[in-house]
Amino acid sequence: THFGYRDVPVAEKQKLVGEVFSSVAGKYDLMNDAMSLGIHRLWKRFFVATSQVRKGDRVLDLAGGTGDIAALLKERVGETGELVLGDINGDMLRVGRDRMTDRGNVRGFEYVQCNAEALPFPDASFDLVTMAFGLRNVTDKDAALREIARVLKPGGQARVLEFSEVQAEWFKPIYDFHSFKVLPKLGSLFAGDADSYQYLAESIRKHPPQAELKAMMEAAGLARCSFRNMSAGIVAIHTGYKV
Ligand code: SAM
Repeated sequence: THFGYRDVPVAEKQKLVGEVFSSVAGKYDLMNDAMSLGIHRLWKRFFVATSQVRKGDRVLDLAGGTGDIAALLKERVGETGELVLGDINGDMLRVGRDRMTDRGNVRGFEYVQCNAEALPFPDASFDLVTMAFGLRNVTDKDAALREIARVLKPGGQARVLEFSEVQAEWFKPIYDFHSFKVLPKLGSLFAGDADSYQYLAESIRKHPPQAELKAMMEAAGLARCSFRNMSAGIVAIHTGYKV
């Protein structure tokens, strides 16, 4: 139904996701600004500002990439807090670490290359797990959600910020045009890579919509799950708790 829509076989997906993010790692932030007209910064600020996080917390930012969320979280956990950036892609993690070091953020940070589907952390080891614009790239999302629930301490919070289903009918054709016509052009212009951005647009359309993701979180063992739309559902924040 969407122009340019095609299926990516599951087996190829992991490899493709790796290549996408390696090819864009250096220009990732510039592209985010260009694609969202800078609005992704507001979404991220709101996401962190409304998270359950206290001074001294130990937080995992999954699919942490270039570290936008982690940098905002650091302000909240303070000197005594600990932030672990987990990402499957070494290039993204390296850009994130360099950026963090440039901002003077060194102490209290850890960088772990890991797959969200099989986390290398013991049970009940984090007060908060955040995942921003990462879940839709994960092949087995149910496994990732189960892992998030597993590594959370009782009372801990899971928070997912992700593209979701646009709610306003009149906006859908404009959004599709932006995603499938403008976005790949911006991709080739800025990053010399239209395919990666074509893939990103498709991954957004395939991601489970609001209610479905909420049900998946419940099935993964998280309690009191809820979601909240931002920008008419272009993105949504999903929240759940470990009991
Ligand atoms: N959270 C950052 C932000 O909001 O700017 C980065 C988001 S970026 C769109 C998606 C990230 O997810 C990439 O860095 C990618 O390497 C990572 N990723 C994709 N699949 C993953 C997986 N299975 N496990 C962990 N990270 C993954």
